[in-house]
Amino acid sequence: MAASNIDIDAALAEAQEHYRARNPKSLAQYEAACAALPGGNTRSAIYAEPFPLTMVKGEGAHLWDADGHEYADFLSEFTAGLYGHSHPAIRKAIDEALDGGINFGAHGMAEAKFAAAIRDRFPSIELVRFTNSGTEANLMAVSAAIGITGKQKILVFHGGYHGGVFYFRGKGSPINAPFDYLMGTYNDIESLRALVAPHKHDLAAILIEPMLGGSGCIPATREFLADLRALASEAGAILIFDEVMTSRLAPGGLQEVHNIRPDMTTLGKYVGGGMSFGAFGGRTELMEWFDPRNKQGFQHAGTFNNNVLTMNAGTVGLTEVYTPAAAKKLNNWGDGLRERLNAVAREKGLAMQFTGIGSMIGVHMRGGTIANAAEAAKGHAGLLELFYFDLTARGIWLAKRGMMALSIALDDNDADKLVGAVEEFAETRAPLFEGVQ
Ligand code: PMP
Repeated sequence: MAASNIDIDAALAEAQEHYRARNPKSLAQYEAACAALPGGNTRSAIYAEPFPLTMVKGEGAHLWDADGHEYADFLSEFTAGLYGHSHPAIRKAIDEALDGGINFGAHGMAEAKFAAAIRDRFPSIELVRFTNSGTEANLMAVSAAIGITGKQKILVFHGGYHGGVFYFRGKGSPINAPFDYLMGTYNDIESLRALVAPHKHDLAAILIEPMLGGSGCIPATREFLADLRALASEAGAILIFDEVMTSRLAPGGLQEVHNIRPDMTTLGKYVGGGMSFGAFGGRTELMEWFDPRNKQGFQHAGTFNNNVLTMNAGTVGLTEVYTPAAAKKLNNWGDGLRERLNAVAREKGLAMQFTGIGSMIGVHMRGGTIANAAEAAKGHAGLLELFYFDLTARGIWLAKRGMMALSIALDDNDADKLVGAVEEFAETRAPLFEGVQ
């Protein structure tokens, strides 16, 4: 007999009750925040029903909420917190920047050094410009592609997320940047060729994340990315890899893993050392449009583009802390951890799986292969929600939509704690999985 959704709903209601009882200070903080923030929130992705937890302190790989509970931080600020909380080398870099006075309204010493470090690490980025967020980096890259090619269509993918105004999950968003989008299906070469054929002459850019991150850490196949590379070249379109999150997955990002060279790349998150950050860069002849000596070129101002906190923290992070060796180590560790989590699901025979690459992990309550966002959306939403409540109650911090990212501050004890919490979830919730595939 299949467990019914009524059973799952009842379990969820009970878990929420427990959550409410356990987190009165977070609830009070949330209610106070609603006075001046819509729904108490200034960042949609971190909101959670019935109310979000408020974190008050982070140290290394650990977080504490307003009610004093401690968590192993398996979210790592949606990949931006790769260094853990207040890493000493990053902190020193920020202190040094503060000692020199912040932001001069002028060229400084730090941005050229940081740009060189990025170029060394990601060879397809021959020249780079800084922004303040990944959203802005993608806005600049897409706008540049339109300006350079004189064409209009931007190919993006169902389930993609490239920032606050590039939301292509579910039904998308009415406040997306008003570009002329073509919506493709991830990992599906044939349907893509058919979709693009009538628009090839007007295709300005292809914007793709080489692993669909926000929709559940779904890797692109190498064949799919290679075909996109070929398609962009045939169409005279600019291939933009959004490696805002995935650049952490190998020393040179997923473009290095697949040996595919995009025309432009966007970066963000951890690359700024945990400070506000974004960057877009690529082939010299594209980026030269931003050379201020080129009087026909583009304007791209931005008060904080070269802010010294980000420039200093980012440089130290990339060159001294998250070295190529450190990147390999963290991602190998992540592969091992994901395998341990999948082993729990296999051993219990549950329709639960952990996808991703290296240090990024997607949680799905379904079996079978997941190649695109529609397949990910078939996972059982109620069980995923229950997973969130059960794991947070056991001191694991993760995104409610089922995402985890590792930091270099996490250790084997934290990993054991996570695996233990997942085992307990599997053990206690197994009856609810009956009939779920
Ligand atoms: N691209 C991807 C793939 C992202 O995951 C994000 C943020 N989650 C962004 C772009 C936007 O970056 P930001 O939040 O810094 O604007």
